[in-house]
Amino acid sequence: MRTLPDFDMVLFGGTGDLAMRKLLPALYQQVKAGTVGPGSRILAAARRSLTREAFLELAETSCKPFLGADYDAATWASFAERLSYFSMDAQAADSYGPLGAALGQHPDRIRVFYYSTSPDFFAAISAHLGGAGLITPHSRVVVEKPLGHDLESSREINDAVGRHFTERQIFRIDHYLGKEPVQNLLALRFANVLFEPLWRREWVQDVQITVAEQLGVEGRGDFYEGTGALRDMLQNHLLQLLCIVAMEPPTASDPDAVRDEKLKVLRSLRAFTSQDVAAKTVRGQYKAGAVAGRPVAGYVEEPGVAPDSRTETFVAVKAEIDTWRWAGVPFFLRTGKRMPEKLAEIVINFRQVPHFIFGEAAHGTRANRLVIRMQPDESMRLYLVAKQPGDAMALHPVNLNLDFAESFRARRLEAYERLLLDAIRGRLTLFVRRDEQEAAWCWVEPILDSWAASEDRPKSYTAGSWGPAASSALLSRDGLAWSEED
Ligand code: NAP
Repeated sequence: MRTLPDFDMVLFGGTGDLAMRKLLPALYQQVKAGTVGPGSRILAAARRSLTREAFLELAETSCKPFLGADYDAATWASFAERLSYFSMDAQAADSYGPLGAALGQHPDRIRVFYYSTSPDFFAAISAHLGGAGLITPHSRVVVEKPLGHDLESSREINDAVGRHFTERQIFRIDHYLGKEPVQNLLALRFANVLFEPLWRREWVQDVQITVAEQLGVEGRGDFYEGTGALRDMLQNHLLQLLCIVAMEPPTASDPDAVRDEKLKVLRSLRAFTSQDVAAKTVRGQYKAGAVAGRPVAGYVEEPGVAPDSRTETFVAVKAEIDTWRWAGVPFFLRTGKRMPEKLAEIVINFRQVPHFIFGEAAHGTRANRLVIRMQPDESMRLYLVAKQPGDAMALHPVNLNLDFAESFRARRLEAYERLLLDAIRGRLTLFVRRDEQEAAWCWVEPILDSWAASEDRPKSYTAGSWGPAASSALLSRDGLAWSEED
C-alpha cells in the first residue's frame, strides 16, 4: 500500500473505549504496514490529567489485548513516537491553546479531527476549533454515531458541525460500510455481468439482514435506555447495508454517484402508517436466560435500567422498496442483544426454479441463496444445488466460496483501518452524506412515534434466543422463515 502523506490526526476521546479498542489499534496496524510515515502525528485529547508517558502506558496496556499476535514491542515503540497527549476540556475554548500550538507547527498538513466523544460535545468542539482558526482547507472531521436521537436532533448536530466544516469535509462513519465483505458485494454486483440480471424482483424472493449480538448492555444501561435497538443499530447500520444491496448501479465510484443511489433507495422505502407499524415491526426486550452456556440477567435487571423500561433490545422490521426493481420483495431487517450467536449477515434468497423436473423427493432442496457474512467471520457464499455423485439423480445443496481469500494473499484491513485511511486520503464514498442520514431518520421516525404512543410493551424474549416469537411470525405471514429456521 502507498505511504500516506504526512498527516495530523486529533483524537478527541483519545482515552475512551473506542479509541483503545479500534482507533489506536487501527493506526498501529498501519504503522506496522508502513503506510504511516514517521512524520505523521496522532494527537490524543481527553479530559483526564495525564502525562504523555502515562498516556502511552495506558494506551499500550489497553490496546495490547486487541492487537493480539500483531503486537510487537518494536512496532509499538515506533507507533508511540507518533503519539502525544493533550489534557483538555473539549467544551472550554481556553483549553485549546496547546493543541493549537502543536497543530500550528505544520499548518499545511492534512488534519483529521476524529470526534470519539459523546455527540453532546460535537457542537462545542467544532466551534472552538473554528474559533481558534484550526480548521484549514486540508482539514476533515470524522463523526461517530449516534448523530442525534431523531431527525431534529441529528439536524442540530449536523448544523453545528456544518457551520465550521463543509459537507465535503465531514466524514460520518458507519463501520459496516468499511467491512471487506460489503466491499466485495459491491465488486460482485458492479464488476461482473452475472448477478445484475438476477438482482431484481423477478429472481429475488426476499432479503434478510441480521446483526445479532451476544452481549447485553455491558454496564451502559443509562445510555441504552435513551436509545434502543432501532436508533442504535437499525437506523444506521442495517439501513446502510440495505442500501448497498438495493441500490441501482452507480454511474461511477465517486462519492456522490454512490451516495446518490443510496439516497434514492432510502427515499423509496415505503413509509409506515401506524397500522403498518403494528403489522410490520416487532420490538422485543430480553429477559433472563443463558447465552453461550452462561446464565445472564434480564434487561430490566441491568444497572441503570428502569424496572418498567419499554426500551427495545431487539427489533425486526419488514421493509418494502417501492421501485420497479424491488416491488413486492420484502427486506427483513433484525438486530438484537443477547442473541444465541454473534452474527452479522445479509442473505439474498433467490426464487425456486419455475418448473422442477427432478421429482418430489428432491423438491425440498433449497433454492439458491447468496450469504454475505460480516461476523463472526468474513465470507461470501453462493448456495447452489448440485447432483451428488452416484447413479441416482440425488440433489444436494453445495456452496461456492466467493470470498477468494486464498487468491489474494494481502492482509485484510479491519473496517476502522480502511475508513481511517479513507478519511486521511479524503475519500468520502464509504461515509454517509447528510441527506442519507436524514432520509433514514425520516423513515424510522413513524416507528418510534407509534411505539411511543402505544400502551404495548416490547415483547419479551429469553436471553439466548433469536428474539420474540412474533419475529418468526413476521416472515411466516409471507410463507417465509429466517435463514436459521429454514
Ligand atoms: P467513552 O469510553 O465514554 O470515552 C469518552 C471519551 O471522551 C474519553 O476519552 C473521555 O475522556 C472523553 N471526554 C469526556 N468528556 C470530555 C471533555 N469534557 N473534554 C474532553 N474529553 C472528554 O466513550 P466511547 O465508547 O469511546 O465512545 C465515544 C463515541 O463513539 C461515543 O459517541 C459513542 O457513542 C461512539 N461509539 C462508540 C463505540 C464503541 O465501541 N465504544 C462504537 C460506536 C460508536 P476521559 O477519559 O478523560 O474522561
